[in-house]
Amino acid sequence: MGEQTFDDRDGFIWLDGALVPWRNATVHMLTHAMHYASSVFEGQRAYNGEIFALAEHSERLICSADLLGFTIPWTRAQIDQASRDTLAASGLKDAYMRPIAWRGSEQMGVAAQRAKIHLGIACWEWGAYFGAEALNKGLKLEIAPWRRPAPYTAPTASKAAGLYMICTLSKHHAADRGYDDAMMLDWRGQVAEATGANVFFVQDGALHTPTPDCFLDGITRRSVMRLAQRRGIKVIERVIWPEEMEGFEQCFLTGSAAEVTPVGSIGPWNFEVGGLTRQLMADYSALVRGGLANG
Ligand code: PMP
Repeated sequence: MGEQTFDDRDGFIWLDGALVPWRNATVHMLTHAMHYASSVFEGQRAYNGEIFALAEHSERLICSADLLGFTIPWTRAQIDQASRDTLAASGLKDAYMRPIAWRGSEQMGVAAQRAKIHLGIACWEWGAYFGAEALNKGLKLEIAPWRRPAPYTAPTASKAAGLYMICTLSKHHAADRGYDDAMMLDWRGQVAEATGANVFFVQDGALHTPTPDCFLDGITRRSVMRLAQRRGIKVIERVIWPEEMEGFEQCFLTGSAAEVTPVGSIGPWNFEVGGLTRQLMADYSALVRGGLANG
């Protein structure tokens, strides 16, 4: 049996206001988004039938579209409800969800003022993003060959498809050399983030994380910062240079898909999967399952 592809499945996808059979949620090749990357998306997870931080994800989707100069023709509350309807139609309690908005096929060429805006939401089962083993061992990361662009060269605060071009290239470069993922520096050479997750370091009982001025200020990142502060752990947001990794004891990634995943090494620098990381993994797991307040 071949691998199950993403276009050939049973179930339903929410598309422009209605749940349609999974295989019918298609777009034409002359779609602006396909040619010019005019799409923005979200990644969110449901736990025990509840979508974690749903309002924040829907709000970010709207803001991401705004940054690309288009308006999603649905309100935040409508997108929330569409996500819940998609999850309900799937029959899944634990799922990964992918809302995406894009410019349609009414116009070809760089300009797209007349292209209609579409919104789709799909969900499926997805276990640990980096696999279960990484949660014990920690990930092996290489330093990416590509750098996060400056905010004046791309809409870096948007979760826009185009910004992932260098993430896929970096992820493939890492995989080809036996690494799990890549740590991306920014255009200045400062530590930025992994290809689909933010990064934290532990030093002397405090958390250090780069200031998100040219990459996504992740929803998981902010949740984990609150969880740490609630335990009296100091969180320091600052510029981090790669050479500083020599002095860091622990490291982990955060993301809606990645959740909290420990990192064992980045290039030549090694980290232990330590107590503070394990504590925050457990706290995040409790938080998303409704065992702790998110505020
Ligand atoms: N950076 C990138 C490039 C990502 O793709 C993600 C995942 N959305 C994150 C950071 C983490 O963001 P969040 O915690 O909001 O999922």
